[in-house]
Amino acid sequence: MVTIKSKQEIEKMREACKVAYLTQKAVEEAIRPGVSTWELDKIAENTMRANGAIPAEKGYPSGVKGVPPFPGSICASVNDEIIHGIPSKNTILKEGDIVSVDLVAYKNGFNGDCARTYTVGKVDSETKRLVDITKQAFFEGIKYAKKGNRIGDVCHAIGEFVKKNGFSIVKEFQGHGIGRQMHEDPGIPNYGKEGRGIRLEPGMTLAIEPMVIYGSDGILQLEDGWTIITEDGSNAAHYENTILITENEPEILTIL
Ligand code: MG
Repeated sequence: MVTIKSKQEIEKMREACKVAYLTQKAVEEAIRPGVSTWELDKIAENTMRANGAIPAEKGYPSGVKGVPPFPGSICASVNDEIIHGIPSKNTILKEGDIVSVDLVAYKNGFNGDCARTYTVGKVDSETKRLVDITKQAFFEGIKYAKKGNRIGDVCHAIGEFVKKNGFSIVKEFQGHGIGRQMHEDPGIPNYGKEGRGIRLEPGMTLAIEPMVIYGSDGILQLEDGWTIITEDGSNAAHYENTILITENEPEILTIL
């Protein structure tokens, strides 16, 4: 069921999303060669708690027997890791790396979700292009995130833009509705057909998140049961915001 948020609920969503945004800013400031993803995790957790939120990803159940809940406050996925990377003292960023940080702030009963891929020092031009196109894919998609359009219009725009630029979409994971739950209906794949799926209505809050691979679209999961990597070893990028469907243009809640 797709939930339509009331005015009061939207104000609470705004609060959670603001903390998610501020947390990304704090993480971004700390990105440099020599920093570990564990340190980024601590910065994120401290920022959320200082702003009255908790990291919703910490303790998130895997849903798979024998795989423990997610241990981090953020997902930190480096280079060929696409999503769900586990922060670690042993994962130290170096010049030329990229790191995707996906985080969810939970405040006053609501979730705010956003992801960014950061470049560490100077990266090569093709890696930079991957990061830029992934971000741009989000903005191409939300041009269609308007009252009366279908969710498939958004999915299609993202997928076509990525394809046109020669990269691959991750098909096994997708964006989602968001609100009281981190993951609500509808699922929002990063590819699809125009005119398909639910009709967008004011009050819907959606996490739209292109996940893009430089090379081919195969993925693998590491033995930790969480980390998703590219099969061909090429880099991947991720960009996400929580948006609100309105009477007019969509509002991006996780950018202030
Ligand atoms: Mg996310």
